[in-house]
Amino acid sequence: MGYVNGLKCRECGRDYPKEPKHVCAYCFGPLEVDYDYDKIKSVLTRKVIESRGPNIWRYRELLPLDGDPVVGHHVGFTPLVKAENLGKLLGAPNLYIKNDSVNHPTFSFKDRVVAVALSKAKEFGFDTVACATTGNLGNSVAAHAVQGNFKSYIFMPATIEQTKIIGTLIYGINVVGINSNYDGVNRLCAEIADKYGWAIVNVNLRPFYAEGSKTYGHEIVEQLGWKPPKHVVVPMAGGSLILKIQKAIKEMKKIGLIDSDDTSFYGAQATGCAPISRAVKEDMEFIKPEKPNTIAHSIAIGNPADGHYSKEAIKGSGGWAEHVTDDELIEGIKLLAETEGIFTETAGGVTVAATRKLIEAGKIDPSESIVICITGNGLKTQEALAGQLKQPTIINADIKEVDKIVEEVNSREAVMV
Ligand SMILES: *Cc1c(COP(=O)(O)O)cnc(C)c1O
Ligand SMILES: [Zn+2]
Repeated sequence: MGYVNGLKCRECGRDYPKEPKHVCAYCFGPLEVDYDYDKIKSVLTRKVIESRGPNIWRYRELLPLDGDPVVGHHVGFTPLVKAENLGKLLGAPNLYIKNDSVNHPTFSFKDRVVAVALSKAKEFGFDTVACATTGNLGNSVAAHAVQGNFKSYIFMPATIEQTKIIGTLIYGINVVGINSNYDGVNRLCAEIADKYGWAIVNVNLRPFYAEGSKTYGHEIVEQLGWKPPKHVVVPMAGGSLILKIQKAIKEMKKIGLIDSDDTSFYGAQATGCAPISRAVKEDMEFIKPEKPNTIAHSIAIGNPADGHYSKEAIKGSGGWAEHVTDDELIEGIKLLAETEGIFTETAGGVTVAATRKLIEAGKIDPSESIVICITGNGLKTQEALAGQLKQPTIINADIKEVDKIVEEVNSREAVMV
């Protein structure tokens, strides 16, 4: 294995060796992994990929490891679901859900990035890993740190969902709540990386970590029969996932796995934190940082690291962006659950509601293939639904009381018809 030339500055193109470093020393541009595509093309065919296990490592030549992964052996290859019922409702007969709410082991797409980042941390010889998180990343770093026998620290805003805090504490690692929003936590983590020399997955390991997101795109294409979709709707926090799905599709064309890469990208955010979406919709040259105020905590990043690049990628692809209110996102969660039987978290509610708006506004042609990216699990953000659902009917263990309920349901249905 080993198909990586090194790192390359996205802005000035300067080359760097493979090292835990994320900013260019000359122009402060972000560093990206640079691959030897000719070499990858000579070994990676559809047949080779299809012969491998159902996990992200089936695309391992397109990931930045030199050796075999040490954690996350079962991450990825989540279902691509044909959404017949939701599609009917939206007038979209070729609608699909890429369902990372059932990713192994921590039920969000973050397992993809963490599997790559911690395997790379091992190659670099780190013994301590850490992250700044809005919730899901912390869950995943904690779980994989245990798998890989790392020491670990998770830094998070103190006010995120209880379930996400518990879903990190359970692994018995060091969890630190910060009295700040994500952007403050992230700034602190940059200082921590300098001072303690740890592998902070979304700071100094960011170039390697972010590559894991490409597998979300690889899988969509493979699962559609080696055909990229015409439209993809992606929730945006830092703006990395949307960029990497696009990169995945472009790379697959470059190495001859597919013939076309004319997918349009649509970004989804919450109205209470929509710096990228606003920049797209209002044609702003630069991203204007915002102070997050939304229940969609997992995507509440007010100063998105990849905001500028994701805005450019969306525009260049002929796509668009949309943001939705907290009420709309809750409707989105319910809509997906009631039509497709998939319970997603707040970020997924944002993505479903944004897709609906984009179709209704004529931004997406509903007759073409559309993939909605569902990136996290609803069981982790249950508090968003407090007071939003009808309570169960409580009865005695008596068949007559059941008869009454069934009669009521039947008469209600009769009225609806
Ligand atoms: C982190 C996260 C995202 C977005 O990730 P970025 O790559 O930072 O844009 C989307 N959905 C969920 C559930 C997440 O946890
Ligand atoms: Zn540079």
